[in-house]
Amino acid sequence: MPNCIFCDIIQRKMSAKIVFEDSYSLAFEDINPKAPTHILIIPKRHIESVNAMTEEDELALGRLFLVARDLAQERKINRSGFRTVINTGHNAGQSVFHVHLHLLGGRPMAWPPG
Ligand code: 5GP
Ligand code: ZN
Repeated sequence: MPNCIFCDIIQRKMSAKIVFEDSYSLAFEDINPKAPTHILIIPKRHIESVNAMTEEDELALGRLFLVARDLAQERKINRSGFRTVINTGHNAGQSVFHVHLHLLGGRPMAWPPG
């Protein structure tokens, strides 16, 4: 996978504020946070987007939500509420083509998103 910044973060070729890691996933602070809590949770396997998912990715991608649940609890936003988002493709504004779950919280959020 040529020039994937998130793979570089997994391999520690690029720095990031890593907050969690296990065999399937890595979580780190978003470099340009849009909320008091803004963490990106990614599978360690390079998957370009939800469009590129296969059945083999089921476990790894499910894990992202369990990590989000635990981090939301840790940041004490589980009761106030939080948003988990995966952008896919141009219209959704996907800018990094390695699947990532945004965990956003710590402030009220509008719906629908802009
Ligand atoms: P997307 O727009 O693809 O859904 O989200 C990409 C996210 O990755 C953005 O929120 C952006 O701020 C974040 N991001 C882009 N490059 C880096 C980086 O090098 N380090 C970190 N920590 N976050 C990044
Ligand atoms: Zn990657």
